[in-house]
Amino acid sequence: MLGLVLLGAAIILERSVVRRLARLDQAARTLTEGKPRPALVDNSPDEIGHLTRTFNSMAERIASHTEELERQVAERTVALEEMAHSDFLTGLLNRRGVMVRMETERKRLVRSGGKMGVLIVDLDLFKRINDNWGHAVGDLALVEIARVLKDSVRTYDGVARWGGEEFLVGMFDLSCFAELEAVANNLLNAVRQVRLDCHGVDVSLTYSIGGILADATVSLDEIIKQADDALYRAKNEGRDRAVLANFLPA
Ligand code: GH3
Ligand code: MG
Ligand code: MG
Repeated sequence: MLGLVLLGAAIILERSVVRRLARLDQAARTLTEGKPRPALVDNSPDEIGHLTRTFNSMAERIASHTEELERQVAERTVALEEMAHSDFLTGLLNRRGVMVRMETERKRLVRSGGKMGVLIVDLDLFKRINDNWGHAVGDLALVEIARVLKDSVRTYDGVARWGGEEFLVGMFDLSCFAELEAVANNLLNAVRQVRLDCHGVDVSLTYSIGGILADATVSLDEIIKQADDALYRAKNEGRDRAVLANFLPA
């Protein structure tokens, strides 16, 4: 008889306490492992029921905190990536940013069989602006030139600060050489309209352009090297001009 009573008590204890605690323990372990877990249902008015409901609301709060943290990390990663790819002074893409963009576009053009245009734009005798008017005025001039370049090309074109007083324009849907020429002439005319206010004195600026039209199968390094050579010729031929060429295999 006593044995039966003890057995009955053991079964009741197992159902009303041990099993429920084990379930709670399992849920806590799942939470620690960061796995998703359905809420435990325990509506009993006793202490274990109360503990289970408290556990549920704690798990819910942890889940929503984790979600918020993940959202913030994703947002900041995007912002950091943008910062790493843009030029602090002008807001244009920087060298790294435009290289990534051009490589993406180049691969797309290889599939569609298109051509790519690259213009390297270097301000003429810019050192004189700094020497005559100070570095701060030079900085403002760079910001102004960035705006002029951006406003003179199509939205889809890539405009970047290539370094110092050099900029790069990448065009990813050119069909012929005349289009490259038209953009370069447009850029030359645009800068000729600029008047910098240097401590009350209107100062004009020019730049030289080296440009290449290339098949997208050509590597970016090769395209840029030839655009640089063309720029060098534009400088030697007297500045304030564009020297453009079709890509020639070495
Ligand atoms: P060239 O026509 O041969 O290109 O002559 P340049 O004077 O433009 O070329 P050089 O390479 O001799 O000088 C470039 C100048 O650009 C010198 C440097 O102080 C200036 N520069 C480069 N980066 C910046 C910048 O971020 N801010 C300012 N204010 N000046 C800069
Ligand atoms: Mg330069
Ligand atoms: Mg220069």
